[in-house]
Amino acid sequence: MYSGILNKMASNYANPIEYNFIIGDHVINFNKQINKTLTLEWLGKVQCKCGKIFKEFYRQSFCYQCFWNAPEASPSIFKPELCTADLGIEERDFEWEKKFQLAPHYVYLTNTSGVKVGITRKTQKITRWIDQGASQAVLVAEVPNRRLSGLIELELKKTLSDRTNWRKMLSGKPKNIEMLQIKKQISSILSSDFKKYLINDCDVLQLIYPVTKYPEKIISKSFKKQPTISGKLIGIKGQYLIFDENRVFNVRAHTGYIINLII
Ligand SMILES: [Zn+2]
Repeated sequence: MYSGILNKMASNYANPIEYNFIIGDHVINFNKQINKTLTLEWLGKVQCKCGKIFKEFYRQSFCYQCFWNAPEASPSIFKPELCTADLGIEERDFEWEKKFQLAPHYVYLTNTSGVKVGITRKTQKITRWIDQGASQAVLVAEVPNRRLSGLIELELKKTLSDRTNWRKMLSGKPKNIEMLQIKKQISSILSSDFKKYLINDCDVLQLIYPVTKYPEKIISKSFKKQPTISGKLIGIKGQYLIFDENRVFNVRAHTGYIINLII
């Protein structure tokens, strides 16, 4: 048995994707757990990134204080076009924001439940794509900071979604999309100010997940509704564990929960 604070799963790009389950200081290869039975047991408490323990989070994985004050929860996290570090303006914590925002970013297209546009720090691209359960990914633009990536995304959102329908993403084998054709279309309609950031790279990355069987209809499990989740693990995709009986569990959404893992 392992006990500790649940973190989002770590992943490595391979065929199929390799997943490690992170609980406290323990790192457990979860591809090896597929087809085996496991139990996740919430102990009724959560720990915020500030270290304080609560019965539940205020919003997302934050306590009240952190949600309203921490740079990790500032409005520009959810709306990157609101970033201001490159303009020399502090939002909540200038040092943190400079480090986070003043780095090369990509604008990309992925096929999750259909094609969507997104942004990520350059160093995070594959992790980001795996976390969202993308089956295909292609780079569109590279910019020097997060605000610019947000502005390009904002423009592309007029024609493309920026959301994943996670139920669709988890049900059935992903269908291939002509990603390069869509990249070409959106590249041609991009404002002239942004065109200089376009990437000519035509590589479409394919991502294969360790899923033995996709659920037919999806039953989403959460600790709030049921503190113990037990069953046979039949696959992992994105940040979801797929259990038998059509059950799925979003690991990332439970970041900070204090749990036992029994394998
Ligand atoms: Zn906190």
